[in-house]
Amino acid sequence: MTVKSKSIKIDTSKNFEIIDITSKINGLIEIDEGIVSVFSKHSTSAIVVNENESGLLADLEFMLDNLVSDKFSYNHDRIDNNARSHLKSFLLSSGETLPVKNGKLDLGTWQSVFFIELDGPRRSRTVTLTMVGE
Ligand code: ZN
Repeated sequence: MTVKSKSIKIDTSKNFEIIDITSKINGLIEIDEGIVSVFSKHSTSAIVVNENESGLLADLEFMLDNLVSDKFSYNHDRIDNNARSHLKSFLLSSGETLPVKNGKLDLGTWQSVFFIELDGPRRSRTVTLTMVGE
């Protein structure tokens, strides 16, 4: 069994942005069989797995904007003015652990891995890949 680490740097161009990183991850996998942890090192972003369909991705933004209303004032805004970005990140996840088979992510037909920017635009967002397997 081996453990290997890689990282992906992502520049984002919008306040809310969904970026499909599936092929980037597949290009960096260095094990044949095992698991890969995909982890975002930022508290105003997320990693999720779902379908890459434009209507659905717009629905995700709509849902988050409605769950984390801009009608309220939030405590964190007193120091940083990005409470809603953090709260959306709480609702999602900072990472996913995914199966690897034959050197690639073993996803379902309609599944992709997304980096979600919740407080952009930002330069050099870091996503780490930790691979465990053989
Ligand atoms: Zn903050």
